[in-house]
Amino acid sequence: MSGKARKMEGKTSEEALPLRKKGRKSSTQTAQQQPPNKSHVFLQYNGRSLEFTVPEALQSEDPQGLKFQVTVLHSGDDDPVQLDLVEREEIWPGRPEGVAMSIFKAFKAHLRWGEQPGETDMLMDSSPQFLAMMTEIGDDPSKHVCSLQRSDGTVTRILHNGQDVMVRWFKGTNVYFKVRVAGQQFNWGTKTGGGSVHKICTVKSCWSLSVDRVVGYCRPHSKKTEEVMLLRDVKNYTNPNILVFCPTLKMTTYTEEDINEYVRNPSIRTNYPTLDKYMTDRVNVMKEEHPETWENIVPFWFEIDQSLPMTTTQATRRYNVISVGTSLLVHFHNLASTETDRVILQMKFIHFLGADSQFWDEVLQFVNKNGLTFSTSPLPLDYNFRPTHYFPPEDKIVKTLPYSYQGHGKEGGIYDGVSTSNSIVVVGFGSKSHRKQKTALTGLAHTIVPLFQEILDDTAEMDKTALQAEYLGSLSTIIASMLKLKKDGHHIRPIIYQIDQHFNSVKYPELLDMIFAIRTGLQLNVNLEPLIIMDGKPDIIF
Ligand SMILES: [Zn+2]
Repeated sequence: MSGKARKMEGKTSEEALPLRKKGRKSSTQTAQQQPPNKSHVFLQYNGRSLEFTVPEALQSEDPQGLKFQVTVLHSGDDDPVQLDLVEREEIWPGRPEGVAMSIFKAFKAHLRWGEQPGETDMLMDSSPQFLAMMTEIGDDPSKHVCSLQRSDGTVTRILHNGQDVMVRWFKGTNVYFKVRVAGQQFNWGTKTGGGSVHKICTVKSCWSLSVDRVVGYCRPHSKKTEEVMLLRDVKNYTNPNILVFCPTLKMTTYTEEDINEYVRNPSIRTNYPTLDKYMTDRVNVMKEEHPETWENIVPFWFEIDQSLPMTTTQATRRYNVISVGTSLLVHFHNLASTETDRVILQMKFIHFLGADSQFWDEVLQFVNKNGLTFSTSPLPLDYNFRPTHYFPPEDKIVKTLPYSYQGHGKEGGIYDGVSTSNSIVVVGFGSKSHRKQKTALTGLAHTIVPLFQEILDDTAEMDKTALQAEYLGSLSTIIASMLKLKKDGHHIRPIIYQIDQHFNSVKYPELLDMIFAIRTGLQLNVNLEPLIIMDGKPDIIF
């Protein structure tokens, strides 16, 4: 077959000549289109998209049996350069089938997906356009969505074998659907009024039906393992820079190259603000230190020091256990270390939503096996619970300036919070992230008492010490939970869902013991074997 090449703009012209050879099995990047569109061949290069018409005689043949070659002509008198073909088997294990295929096609048509370079079928459900569409469809059982309308008025019906297919965006994670049987009243909830209800797997580019009611994975994905990792930047030797990481599930295990590509992805970076800032800073350091050659220097490279494969249903919980545990380990290790031996955990929020007593047992086991143990003893009789240097009396607290506070629930729940310069004007209590956790603080506002405040000229510095006091308050609640300590007959537990901000070092570490004493009436004893650091690698056991 002959190729129809388009002249490219600029000083070079490129021509691609797809040639046919019999008897060779190979595939091209276009073979992933399902079903294969056999009328055109697309070639993409550096943002350019070339399209070639396939002669009619060839269109009935299996594209798998065709061989394509590409030659590039630099200019009229240069010899053509033939490009090497990299054999790449494009498989799409989760490609849509049956009703899911009908839904996929309707979504694709509505989004006009595939018109722009790089818009492959597999990437459609990872796109912001897809998310926006699904968010608009929503998860309202009273809404019966079986068609999609664009702003220009174009309507795409979702049909399967001529019957309407109703869709919902179930819990914001799964496409949920049910086929309407003609002539019957439609109802999501019962078995009448259509076929059965199905969910599509929540893993990106997987359109298989979900079998797992809890998480919403298809059968292969519910058996897959996710990895909880410890990453370390091997390009920065000043101090070990680490982070606990749980990359999204993919079909194969992550290699070091995969991970380094993954953390550099802009959409991933927005989810990890501390890591993002770290990477940006490293680039700036390289620019400063090597103004001539910085572009040739790799500013950061993450090695996988630990990787723990977990079933998908357990990975998030284990990631949270290890993250909280590592925050504790790093905090106490740094307290006992000189500047050069300090470990820097490049994390800010550390979540533990849904933590139960078993969760805190697991955190305790994790820190214990890494050489960190806790015990308690009675406080001296003359112990001063609220030294005013750290905890001014409530009427001396300046509520227009940053301070930390605590609240409590009825059954041992303790709420750690902070009021920073960002949050004071907006609400009386709580940082921005706490305002989002309205449910946690609802009904507790009257129990809130201020804890730490240090008046400084520098507001940023004041925010920092208040946030550090909040962090140490959270650690004291966490340690009391791990030790199963009680207050008024109830086990102490955090009402918060996360550590708002991890700190690698704090100005007043003694605040931890003090807040612990206020809450438990006990002296906290910490026993630590500092982490062994070999060739810049802290020995943290997962
Ligand atoms: Zn799946």
